[in-house]
Amino acid sequence: MQPSDKALVPFVSVDHMMQLIHHIGVQNMLRGLADYIEDDFKRWELFDKTPRVASHSAEGVIELMPTSDGETYGFKYVNGHPKNTADGLQTVTAFGLLADVNTGYPVLLTEMTMLTALRTAATSAMVARALAPKGATTMAMIGNGAQSEFQSVAMQAIAGVTHVRLYDTDPAATAKCAANLNGTGLQVTACTTAEEAIEGAQILTTCTADKAYATILTDNMVGEGVHINAIGGDCPGKTEIAPAILQRGDIFVEYPPQTRVEGDIQQLPDDHPVTEIWQVLAGKAPGRTSAKQITIFDSVGFAIEDFSALRYVRDRIDGTPYFHPLDLLADPDDPRDLFGMLHRAIV
Ligand code: NAD
Repeated sequence: MQPSDKALVPFVSVDHMMQLIHHIGVQNMLRGLADYIEDDFKRWELFDKTPRVASHSAEGVIELMPTSDGETYGFKYVNGHPKNTADGLQTVTAFGLLADVNTGYPVLLTEMTMLTALRTAATSAMVARALAPKGATTMAMIGNGAQSEFQSVAMQAIAGVTHVRLYDTDPAATAKCAANLNGTGLQVTACTTAEEAIEGAQILTTCTADKAYATILTDNMVGEGVHINAIGGDCPGKTEIAPAILQRGDIFVEYPPQTRVEGDIQQLPDDHPVTEIWQVLAGKAPGRTSAKQITIFDSVGFAIEDFSALRYVRDRIDGTPYFHPLDLLADPDDPRDLFGMLHRAIV
């Protein structure tokens, strides 16, 4: 028995996602994602919001990230296991789903490992565009793993970065990142210490993976006027920025109830002031107010960014060959005769 079209759910595999990204162009897709995320952040109050549901273990975390704007519902499944790379596995993998709130029927199922890297980078660059010092062209990229090239290219496409200075405790990761950025038009400098990487940089990105209270940036490393894009501290017991820097800078976050538990600000008292970045984008709160100010985006990744990315993919795959129609939903001729459908399927 053939399922009807209304029961077939578009499924975007990893292979199709990569073809879609190349079809659109990486930089165009990053810009498109940043626009979708910014549009959704500007209608922030409409959304159902909840901190992600996290299941922690000694080695990592598995999370569900749901949200809805009342018309469409989305969620992402994502893990974070820093020890995975030692076994040839990735630190972060993900998939996600979008559904119609009116019927509850899924309208998209997709890989989200590639898409998470793109949406995280698009979010970072969208925030840097709003907060980085005027004329910022150089970024220190500390942590040269899976996210690092996406972060670099997004900052180039969206925030005006022309030069990246790379550092990783593993020189092989830096060599991989530098090789992958070859041909992007970015000037790339491989550095041997974090101190060297931040020389002359106006944007400092930390994107390391270690389930520990790590200090990637110490207080004496950070001068006036920089923008810090802190990506890797995104889980209880996992941080990157010295508390003294957090005390000196102005902190911008996605969703405080989640960031207070997961972000670098888990090291600060619960009432330490933070600004929700959607308010800056919507013109309801100031962003950078002086050239000397240190701005810090304490990024953990929030469900609305995934919702925006899912919406973007749904809008782009229509009329393309970049998805499989998936027989995911049972579709009996009489909706109440599910058993009869099973019965008639006997061969
Ligand atoms: P990855 O494991 O591929 O890369 C991490 C890199 O950090 C590795 O190359 C490792 O050698 C390096 N590193 C570890 N400790 C370091 C140190 N002290 N100094 C310099 N480099 C160091 O991980 P990834 O997929 O690139 O993710 C990086 C981090 O970003 C993870 O912690 C992940 O959870 C987080 N992340 C955050 C978001 C978000 O929205 N904020 C989204 C995705 C991933």
